[in-house]
Amino acid sequence: MSAPASLFLSPFGQVARMQTTSAQAVARGFFGRCPNCGRGKMFDHFLKVADCCPVCGEELFHQRADDFPAYLVILLVGHIVVPLALLVETEYAPVMWLQVAVWVPVTLGLALGLLQPIKGAIVAIQWFGGMHGFGRRRSGRV
Ligand SMILES: [Zn+2]
Repeated sequence: MSAPASLFLSPFGQVARMQTTSAQAVARGFFGRCPNCGRGKMFDHFLKVADCCPVCGEELFHQRADDFPAYLVILLVGHIVVPLALLVETEYAPVMWLQVAVWVPVTLGLALGLLQPIKGAIVAIQWFGGMHGFGRRRSGRV
């Protein structure tokens, strides 16, 4: 499978065609940008993927991230917070109300802060891999 190509408008008004690498696509998605052009916003609202890129018109409604971003966020945040909470408990043994006052906001902040970037990266992976409806459009099999 060849890397998807993106069309760009150069500063001189010429249309340029560039290959998008998987790392570029994932980074663009992680930062909430269109995996195709990297300039348009991927999300209309929090966690709501736009139907199309407002800059290049790339169709994004084919995404099927479903619960996978939430699964990855739970896995990641759990592997960050639980060892830290255990370390603090064994080393300092703070009172329980202090543990709750610290770890609940940290857990919620990490989970909410990582959910949209991880969803963006997953949508970008689906776009790059031609999964679901993404592949039909690029290959002209619509
Ligand atoms: Zn775009």
